[in-house]
Amino acid sequence: MSATATRAAVFTGVGQPLEIQELVLDDPKPGEVKVKIAASGVCHSDLSIQNGTLPLAPPIVLGHEGAGVVVDVGEGVTAFKPGDHVVTTWVGQCGTCYTCTHGEPFLCEATSLVQATNALLDGTPRFSLDGKPVGQMSACGTFTEYTVVPAIACVKVPDDIPLDRAALLGCGVLTGCGAAINTGGVQPGDTVAVIGCGGVGLNVIQGARIAGAAHIIAVDMVASKLELAKTFGATHTVNAGDGDPVEAVKALTSIGPMGPRGVDIAFEVVGATALLQQALSMARRGGRVVFVGVPRMDDMMTWSPFMELFAFDKKVSGSFYGHSNIHRDINRYVDLYREGKLLLDELVSRTISLDDVNGAFDALEKGEVARSVISYDG
Ligand SMILES: [Zn+2]
Ligand SMILES: [Zn+2]
Repeated sequence: MSATATRAAVFTGVGQPLEIQELVLDDPKPGEVKVKIAASGVCHSDLSIQNGTLPLAPPIVLGHEGAGVVVDVGEGVTAFKPGDHVVTTWVGQCGTCYTCTHGEPFLCEATSLVQATNALLDGTPRFSLDGKPVGQMSACGTFTEYTVVPAIACVKVPDDIPLDRAALLGCGVLTGCGAAINTGGVQPGDTVAVIGCGGVGLNVIQGARIAGAAHIIAVDMVASKLELAKTFGATHTVNAGDGDPVEAVKALTSIGPMGPRGVDIAFEVVGATALLQQALSMARRGGRVVFVGVPRMDDMMTWSPFMELFAFDKKVSGSFYGHSNIHRDINRYVDLYREGKLLLDELVSRTISLDDVNGAFDALEKGEVARSVISYDG
């Protein structure tokens, strides 16, 4: 193999539409694989780079939720061979660092810098334009026909799983279902609230359903999203535009000595401080609060640690990458999809071409439900 030309959607500046450019893609170096991307989901985090919420220096090939076929492997790669179907993830797992060996592979120290550098593990990207390097989002860069990624960030999936569905596993499903199953530790019979019913929120809902939650209260401002939430497993819906969502959610929970108890676990999946506060207020005494959404870097919150942590003993947690173990979880979700328990087809709002990526961003900003998926095959 030799360097490849590849069309890519490139972030060139805050607020600028992504530019479709023809880039040069270098061969994989040791420990890397070259993947012909079949499909890539368009996630809110891609938009967050384009609109400046996540401040990162251009140029960057966006896209971090992809699946495709291995076409070449670098020196020393034995886990993959050309022809393998893979999901590319944005958190590789080296398997040997401090966090990988302490049960927190989603915080792998070998790959933790890539979200800031937008390069591969040696600090350089494989894309370039006119000899100048072009970054690749979180060591992925899947808004392109071909990419090169770390082998430790890829997971092999069976050939019969459609790649335009498998792609969704790489971010939305791992982040959302993982928040419910791994971080929240939803137990059979639990009552949970999920604030925000976009692509990730729907996955929190179906993760809670799969884990056996008895009551799943979906909260959003958009009626169509609440309707879709029911498909994914919501047993109750609260339109936050109709009044105080905290009171409305609590009214759906069991009664304790001080009135409605609140939920066992509250998930915030938007990343807005007002909603993080609501999630905190919805949780019962002793309950858990899981922050899934990505706030702005300069957002701050004020709340009473005496009340929430001491008196009410709430457990507040982040949920980086749904606390996922990519090697355990991706193929678990493949099995659940095959059994009809994990919904992937229903997540896809529409299938688009690479050239339509800016339209997908517009739809996301307007609150379009679920996912646009870029397909490179049609
Ligand atoms: Zn994402
Ligand atoms: Zn590691």
